[in-house]
Amino acid sequence: EPLLLVADVVKTYRVPDRTRFTGTLDVKAVRGVTLEIRPGENVGLVGESGCGKSTLSRLLSWIEEPDAGRIVFQGKDMASLRGKERLAMRRRFQLLLQDPYNCLPPHLSVARTIRTSLDIHGVKGAEARDKVRAVMHEVGLKDEDAERLPIGMSAGQRQRVNIARALVLEPTLLILDETLSSLDPAEQSRLIDLFERLQVKHGLTYLVISHDLALVRKVCNRVAVMYLGKIVENAGNAQIFDQP
Ligand code: ADP
Ligand code: ADP
Repeated sequence: EPLLLVADVVKTYRVPDRTRFTGTLDVKAVRGVTLEIRPGENVGLVGESGCGKSTLSRLLSWIEEPDAGRIVFQGKDMASLRGKERLAMRRRFQLLLQDPYNCLPPHLSVARTIRTSLDIHGVKGAEARDKVRAVMHEVGLKDEDAERLPIGMSAGQRQRVNIARALVLEPTLLILDETLSSLDPAEQSRLIDLFERLQVKHGLTYLVISHDLALVRKVCNRVAVMYLGKIVENAGNAQIFDQP
């Protein structure tokens, strides 16, 4: 059974028509995407800027709803879920953006930021405290980092906080949208190692959106290529990268 099944998903944005004084234009960001992700896979999503990758990532992490099509996660159609069931399902998909776009609250300490993520899902008290500590260790943050604010931290450390904030919710699918893009090569490879360890430990599945083809080649088993809002190619790593 696939972990995630995306079928004929469409998303159109209505934007002001800048060529005239009035009226709107429809931007068809995602024009009918079908994609299947199996448990434990690392799927790459590549394509030129503006082809709809980030829009698709927001649809898959259920930050925005598609205009048409279905997103079925572990056999459940997301559109049919309401209330608690929906919240519980949303935990399973976590989107990690590029620093600084991942918006760590500037006034909250590391521990508070991670804690907030648990608050939303009703985990409180000693249980929350223990989970925050454990997840901080897991991503390579130290106990003394707990009270630090984002401003004093490096981009790599902030990304670790961002990862911890997602990870503490025990996700199944992590959607990495240019997550490593603004980091230096040494920090990138440390985080690649971290993502690998987390996959082994928790059975995570990754969707890796990146303009960095060398990275995608290194970490993904399968690669989907987007063009003008559609997936135009979807094949194994070797088929995509080793073509003569
Ligand atoms: P990519 O991530 O591949 O660069 P995006 O998904 O960001 O592509 O954008 C796809 C298209 O949708 C672009 O034409 C972009 O301008 C448009 N778009 C994306 N998000 C919005 C939005 N919130 N409002 C209006 N247009 C948007
Ligand atoms: P330890 O034995 O080192 O405390 P745990 O298995 O308890 O390790 O997990 C450590 C942290 O990892 C916990 O805070 C938990 O919330 C987090 N975690 C992250 N992702 C997952 C996942 N997919 N499944 C289970 N726990 C996860």
